[in-house]
Amino acid sequence: MAKKFDVIVIGAGPAGYHAAIRAAQLGLNTAIVEKWLNAEGKPAYGGTCLNVGCIPSKALLEASHKFVDARDHYADIGVMVDSVTADVPKMIARKEEVVGNLTKGVAGLLKTNGVAMFEGMAKLHAGRQVAFTAHDGSTEDLEADNVIIATGSVPVEIPPSPLTDELIVDSTGALAFQAIPARLGVIGAGIIGLELGSVWSRLGSDVVLLEALENFLPPADRQVSKEAAKLYKKQGMDIRLGTRVTGTEVNGDEVTVMYTDANGDQSETFDKIIVAVGRRPYTEGLLGADSGVDLDERGFIFVDETCLTGAPGVWAVGDVVRGPMLAHKGMEEGIMVAERIAGQLPSVNYDLVPSVIYTHPEIAWVGKTEEQVKADGDEYQVGTFPMAASGRAMANNDTAGFCKVVADKTTDRILGVHIVGNHASEMIAEAVIAMEFEASAEDLGLTMFAHPTLSEGLHEAALAVSGHAIHVANRKRKK
Ligand code: FAD
Ligand code: AMP
Repeated sequence: MAKKFDVIVIGAGPAGYHAAIRAAQLGLNTAIVEKWLNAEGKPAYGGTCLNVGCIPSKALLEASHKFVDARDHYADIGVMVDSVTADVPKMIARKEEVVGNLTKGVAGLLKTNGVAMFEGMAKLHAGRQVAFTAHDGSTEDLEADNVIIATGSVPVEIPPSPLTDELIVDSTGALAFQAIPARLGVIGAGIIGLELGSVWSRLGSDVVLLEALENFLPPADRQVSKEAAKLYKKQGMDIRLGTRVTGTEVNGDEVTVMYTDANGDQSETFDKIIVAVGRRPYTEGLLGADSGVDLDERGFIFVDETCLTGAPGVWAVGDVVRGPMLAHKGMEEGIMVAERIAGQLPSVNYDLVPSVIYTHPEIAWVGKTEEQVKADGDEYQVGTFPMAASGRAMANNDTAGFCKVVADKTTDRILGVHIVGNHASEMIAEAVIAMEFEASAEDLGLTMFAHPTLSEGLHEAALAVSGHAIHVANRKRKK
């Protein structure tokens, strides 16, 4: 006899554990199946994000940023330190500690919410039957009125650069280096490549990013990607666009990368290579032939706008379905589906998913880029404010970047906000809230911001849309 639940969630990454906790809060008898084993072979919750993604990368970004700040910038503000050195094994150990605490915390949350936890592999069959295989090989049949698939994604591997144990690694390997590679090649200058490249560049590696595309950061506003390219270059990262990796050759403890660029065939030798060419949806071993769940042509589980698959009562959320592969997008989908199962009618606003690059300065945006608004044929106005004119940024000795607000020319409604600067990841939330409430640039301008804060940069950019910014020379001043 199958064990019966109201809801079974497959995968306990951000999308799955949010779905499970919300379903349990709503009084649904909920189970979650998770197969992750950590480096010590122990079951771990939290998926990619907590174990090998968002959290460990931010722990290393913060540690490496503090190192550079102490070494290069403390003296500017009168804090004199004799010598600053990086203890990489300690940084990695602290990162592991943060990951351990958080993954255990998620397990604790699931438990205290009364979610039944199954550690092992789930396979979905027709009629929402789930075959569960525990890590010790024992099996159990589970069944539910609703199943939520949240099996996430894994790094893409490309034939020219097959992973090796030590020399050619993916993002997971790059979060665990025990020493600083002198020469580091990163294949792919997307968000993950830039963040990991930044970590090791700050710690002392000579970093070269090899990017096949001619454009840098295509999803970002042009003004943002131009500024970012300038700042990363100044920090010492060598970003080579129009550079397609065609092969790799391991020789002892170094790797030669073959690539083509505008000058033809080239090669360069590195001590380590990080392959950061994107992620793909993960459904290996998940779907029985009779599951009734379809994949699209790129391998994502096919869902409608409410995350329902073609199989009755089977939903899918997070990286395994269309849309940006971001933890917060999956979390909101997980919550939406749990509430829909409980009879509520929430939806996810896919137009307002914020994007963040956690380099220094941080880069964050929400809504449309200026180029997208232009391409839509809409008339618009732009307000920008340089962080160099922010009192708080000056006091912080950290004035790189700007805030930019794009607003509809007729209605003044905010269409997009783009920020380059320290704490952009926090500031973008203000823009998301404003846009969720369909604010105009004037609404944001009429809102009182605490002084002195970096957020005032956003306030000033909103005022600048109509030429009212106080701390910059306004070219289009209006009464
Ligand atoms: P996942 O987190 O991938 O979780 C899926 C879970 O399902 C896994 O635990 C897996 O073991 C389990 N599973 C799969 N199949 C089965 C099965 N058949 N049975 C049982 N269990 C199964 N996103 C951000 O928003 N911000 C960031 O700063 C950020 N930084 C990142 C940095 C790096 C280096 C990487 C790699 C990713 C980063 N991401 C970031 C992306 C983020 O990690 C993902 O978007 C997020 O983890 C997706 O959540 P998910 O729940 O859909 O899937
Ligand atoms: P993202 O999908 O944002 O993580 O970025 C991955 C990046 O890797 C994309 O910008 C791709 O263009 C890039 N990429 C993919 N394959 C190659 C390759 N063979 N050589 C160089 N860059 C690549």
